[in-house]
Amino acid sequence: MRLFNVPTAAIALSIVASICTIHSSADGLRAAAAKIDITPPRPAYLAGYSIARKSEAVHDHLSARCVVLDDGTTRIALVSCDLIGVPRFNTLLIRKQISRVPQSQVIIGGTHTHSGPDTLGMWGPTLTVSGVDKPWLEDTCTKIARMVDATADAIKPVTLRLAETSGLKRISKNIRLPQILDTHLSVLQLQDEQTKKPLVTLVNYACHPEILNNRQMTADFPHWLYEAVEAAGGGECIYFNGAQGGMVTADFDESLAPRGANWVEAERIGKQLGAAALKVIADAPLVTAPTLSFARQVFSVPLANRRYRALINMKVFSGTLLPDGSVETEASWFKIGPAEFVTIPGEALPNVGIFLRAHMQGSPRFQLGLTNDFLGYILAPEDFGVDLYGYESGQSVGPEIEPILVKNLLQMIDAKR
Ligand SMILES: [Zn+2]
Repeated sequence: MRLFNVPTAAIALSIVASICTIHSSADGLRAAAAKIDITPPRPAYLAGYSIARKSEAVHDHLSARCVVLDDGTTRIALVSCDLIGVPRFNTLLIRKQISRVPQSQVIIGGTHTHSGPDTLGMWGPTLTVSGVDKPWLEDTCTKIARMVDATADAIKPVTLRLAETSGLKRISKNIRLPQILDTHLSVLQLQDEQTKKPLVTLVNYACHPEILNNRQMTADFPHWLYEAVEAAGGGECIYFNGAQGGMVTADFDESLAPRGANWVEAERIGKQLGAAALKVIADAPLVTAPTLSFARQVFSVPLANRRYRALINMKVFSGTLLPDGSVETEASWFKIGPAEFVTIPGEALPNVGIFLRAHMQGSPRFQLGLTNDFLGYILAPEDFGVDLYGYESGQSVGPEIEPILVKNLLQMIDAKR
């Protein structure tokens, strides 16, 4: 366990150290990966569970991790942060400071750790006072933008491997409807074309990182996922959550430790997920001449949640409403070789993810949850307001977001078949 003393110089060095400087070739897929430390330098209100949980220590440092890919025509950046989520306000703040990747093609996600700082405003000292450490968050947005630009300047020829599997045991469970559980694991690995060594392993799996709840900052199980993949030579590990809303959470033995302090099970789940990712990617063949394609749709969603509206008006939430009272958000669709990706601007319920996956045509299929926005739960209208999903319905912008999101994603999926 480390206390709050993250030296600024160490943060700067970690950027430099984790980016390989290269000379890129003109053809083929090129990429680079990097990570930076984004741990707040002082105690912070922790996001998730309840208000007024101020951190007392740092167990493991929080990171923002990125990979930039370029096929000579299209350039995409994928960024994942050990945060509860990255609202659109901050997504746009990061993007506008980026010059080396088309801003609309920068995907920014939160892993949804419940032991990281408040980024939304909902978990401050009281219900009406923001818990966001604004100087830290603004500084973090700038650092993430610099990381993306520096990584884009470091791209080099790579080879691509892809794999997917399902049926993983004792990682996740659905505590609302146990029968609706998507255990789909999708993995992308890029190797340095010259050295044949992995540069980055991207892991996509739906599960709430909420094993831990004890006032220590931690990335939760993704911390041990990163360790497992990187120790095994998988390069930089990047984790994107999936459709983990209502309520796909970690499957662990709660009797092994006091509630919120089950470090042993957090480590087991992270390492087990890492081992599963490495195992499935190990035998994957190289993808021949992969290319990139990308589409994005920006759309508005009526804001039915009166509490959210009040929090925006009180400036507890950053960002503004459109003149008609709706919120603007976005979704993306892209391909990396045969792999197909969709982005989801919040916490989609597992049935929404299963429906979308059934319509996706690529192989493997990635669903990047909590990306480019953090709009709470995304429930089908028939699920909205029912007793089973009372909590999720109260933490959602409203019943219209799911059909609007699905319509936009299916348009992009169908257009590119
Ligand atoms: Zn959640």
